[in-house]
Amino acid sequence: MTKSLSKILNQDQWDAESLVFLLSLTHQDDMNALYKKAYQVKSETVGRRVYFRGLIEFSNICSKNCYYCGIRSSNTKTHRYEMGIDEIVQAALFAYKNSYGSIVLQSGERATPQFEAYVLRVLKEIKKITDEQLAITLSAGEQSPETYQKFFDAGAHRYLLRIETSNSELYKKLHPQDHSFEKRLQCLKDLKETGYIAGTGVMIGLPHQTLENLAEDLLFFKEMDIDMIGMGPFIEHPDTPLYESKHLLYPMDKRMELTLKMIAILRIMMSDVNIASTTALQAIDRLGREKGLLCGANVIMPNITPRQYRKDYLLYEGKPCLNEEASECKGCLENRILNIGEKIAFNEWGDPIHFANKNRKIN
Ligand code: SAH
Ligand code: SF4
Repeated sequence: MTKSLSKILNQDQWDAESLVFLLSLTHQDDMNALYKKAYQVKSETVGRRVYFRGLIEFSNICSKNCYYCGIRSSNTKTHRYEMGIDEIVQAALFAYKNSYGSIVLQSGERATPQFEAYVLRVLKEIKKITDEQLAITLSAGEQSPETYQKFFDAGAHRYLLRIETSNSELYKKLHPQDHSFEKRLQCLKDLKETGYIAGTGVMIGLPHQTLENLAEDLLFFKEMDIDMIGMGPFIEHPDTPLYESKHLLYPMDKRMELTLKMIAILRIMMSDVNIASTTALQAIDRLGREKGLLCGANVIMPNITPRQYRKDYLLYEGKPCLNEEASECKGCLENRILNIGEKIAFNEWGDPIHFANKNRKIN
């Protein structure tokens, strides 16, 4: 390890320059030193434990048209669905009975009174049937502060809304004109204001994205004092506008490597946050999520969406486990985690220690 690398890995003030230095590492020994440091920080803070969030992709109907996403409203090839309330409750019960501790309810974005009423019923039913024991994270895009408040009151206490990129210029290149970076940012602030444990994140390896942009993303998480972060490689989808920029993209293995570096650096910078090892990592590499855990991530979202819907929730190409039922995924994933020497934190909500530490300081 070079002297400058060792110095950077042990510093506690972060600037764009040192972050770009780490993101640019090319020698395997240097990258291993970064991952090793991140794993050491993880072991000492959040521990070698993995929180499970059962992911239920409850509807792919979306009013937005993000240039990267396979379920964008203009993709007429996608067969649209909305799961019935009872189906969603049954999927949540699977998580509960298998001691997952928490679920993530994710969908396309709709800001209508009907959608609001539907989600409210889902939240209330799940809370009731699980005796308030199952934690619910929601991820249903941009909503009004009033709607966020109603969802919160009905029992969702964490919310995921990725900023996608913290650079407003790049954001504009990835979305149509009527999508707004400022609105997205405001939503993230509204979520925190409401009292949610807010999660955000970015895609890595986007066309036109530079290492400086990624360094800015890391500084953005720190500055916003974010509690949960999910970062995954961008994976092009053939029925989206960004597919035309395919020639600008890094090869998949490089996107994988960059994602692992981002996870590792973030763990060193923000030692007590929750970091997800995302499904998109597994889409690139069969062992992608385990690698994410070994670089500092501590959350995995096993897909528990009923099999018949999975093929229609294709945000990107090559999504894993399309033909498996939740119970099959469970056994497979548990063994993989035990194999790398980590424990699954069953029956725990798994709120980020960062959130608790922050509130302790305030009170
Ligand atoms: N509609 C909600 C939640 C569903 S999309 C929302 O947009 O917030 C969830 C995430 O999938 C997005 O935030 C985005 O980061 C990711 N995603 C979409 N298309 C993708 C692609 N082609 N490659 C990788 N991730 C993608
Ligand atoms: Fe809709 Fe989310 Fe996809 Fe954008 S990323 S098109 S909001 S599902």
